[in-house]
Amino acid sequence: MGQLVRSEPGFVMYSLDDTIVAISTPVGQGGIGIVRLTGPEALGIVLRLFRPAGRRRQIEPNHLYYGHIVAPPGEGWCGPGDAVDEVLLSYMRAPHTYTRQDVVEINAHGGIMPLRGILALCLESGARLARAGEFTLRAFLNGRIDLAQAEAVLDIVNARTETSLRMAEHQLGGRLSQRVRGVRSGLLDILAYLEAAIDFPEDELPPRQIGLDLQRAEQELIDLLREADRGIIYRQGLRVAIVGRPNVGKSSLLNALLRTERAIVTPIPGTTRDTLEETLNLQGIPLVLVDTAGIGKTDDLIERLGVERSRSSAQQADVVLWVVDSSVPPTREDSLAAELAVGKPAIVVLNKSDLPATCEDMTCRVSLYANLLPGAPCLAVSAQTGAGLLDLEALLLQMILSGEIVSSMEPLVSNPRHRDLFRRAYGHLTEAQRSVAQPLPADLLAIDISEAINALGEVTGETASEDLLERIFASFCIGK
Ligand code: GDP
Repeated sequence: MGQLVRSEPGFVMYSLDDTIVAISTPVGQGGIGIVRLTGPEALGIVLRLFRPAGRRRQIEPNHLYYGHIVAPPGEGWCGPGDAVDEVLLSYMRAPHTYTRQDVVEINAHGGIMPLRGILALCLESGARLARAGEFTLRAFLNGRIDLAQAEAVLDIVNARTETSLRMAEHQLGGRLSQRVRGVRSGLLDILAYLEAAIDFPEDELPPRQIGLDLQRAEQELIDLLREADRGIIYRQGLRVAIVGRPNVGKSSLLNALLRTERAIVTPIPGTTRDTLEETLNLQGIPLVLVDTAGIGKTDDLIERLGVERSRSSAQQADVVLWVVDSSVPPTREDSLAAELAVGKPAIVVLNKSDLPATCEDMTCRVSLYANLLPGAPCLAVSAQTGAGLLDLEALLLQMILSGEIVSSMEPLVSNPRHRDLFRRAYGHLTEAQRSVAQPLPADLLAIDISEAINALGEVTGETASEDLLERIFASFCIGK
């Protein structure tokens, strides 16, 4: 498939003949850092810089060599011949490598200076600085992995929960690609049949139930789309804003949910002046909990800014937890806070349920608050004792997954780009079904089927354009 993209006229974006280099480990201080090269000259370039310990030996693939990286005479790094760093070097020979080209990795000390020094020498010796994601792009262009698998590499790096990691691993292993190719190849069969019928109308073709074949493909796309809704939540997570007037227990609730003491809890109203974010792993879903400043009337400038932030946090959130002190009746400030949750999926969190209430009974407490945010479910909890917190998590999960029973199987689709392509393919198949039912001429039917085939091809990269590749790989980091 790489060939297909490269043979497009005007393809200038990436050359596979350059040898590229990058620092592949995060910038900063660490035990080790790795400078990685790939391309036809990878070994030649490094051999100009590597001084092995002991007697000089041939560099064999898949061995580790101990030695030093030194500036070649005349380069004047730290004075000709001076060692930049003590390293371990490995060489992996094409085609059994990540990129299907020669790969050399230099394991150095994980500091900015040694890594930059080695990088600079590699660049001076003929390598070019790799662009974002270019190692993985080469793996794709050289046909080692398809586009969905390349995207999975990024998802593995970015995974925030074990579930999202497992989903990405499955995608890298090719399970999604296999399913997409299955549907695509079924459609290619139908298309071949239709084209034969169009080109050679006089030939007798065996009758074929195109409607049924299309139905099977449609069903498979419906299944994939259903998985996508859940998969995307698992991969990207959701934002949950905790809003409420000062001192109702927002920070305490955040801490209780995280089971840590990250937010500062004090009995003085208005302690949380800024927003605070923490990620909670709710059965594999990364939930970013945003604790906001208390909403109330205030003349303090900093607090006013904090309140503005709460407003925008609530607006950006997928779900809002409106926290109230259920031991006392609502105040004017509670109504202001409730307004932030209007129009959002929200839960009224009746906190401090452990305290004796000023209202006679629970029903009375609930109805006073429930009236301020009609339609939102109410739940009694105590951030202090932990009562009701599991119910709150269960309710959140239910709302997030729209009440769907969560199967233990992880969804295969977790990328919004793939979901959009499945939708596009599904739309064309629905059109195609209409053509079959009418019935309309075979060439009209063929157009929709080819469009669906193209959309599916964009998932795995068979029909990916240069623009699309540029967009996808730009989100990778340099060195990946
Ligand atoms: P925030 O301003 O809304 O973030 O409120 P805090 O979390 O700082 O809590 C304000 C006060 O209420 C603190 O003294 C907490 O210990 C107390 N508090 C919070 N939640 C509960 C609860 O469920 N029960 C009781 N009894 N006190 C609570």
